Amino acid sequence: MLKILLLAAVLFAVYYFFFRTKPIKEVKRPHVTPETMDDMVPCAKCGTYVTLDDAYISGGRYFCSTHCIGA
Ligand SMILES: [Zn+2]
Repeated sequence: MLKILLLAAVLFAVYYFFFRTKPIKEVKRPHVTPETMDDMVPCAKCGTYVTLDDAYISGGRYFCSTHCIGA
């Protein structure tokens, strides 16, 4: 009986892990114009400077990649 409970807990943990690591839906490209696309902004996660053209916005902050948003 204990093994069944343990197995259920492991399965739930695996399911929860995959549910949590789904791609973030609110990722969107910042508003870029020809005048601002070369502006440099720091990534809120790792501090890497990226151009607005390459930056991602999530929660009002800039990120260099979707990896930094998810980490
Ligand atoms: Zn980054």
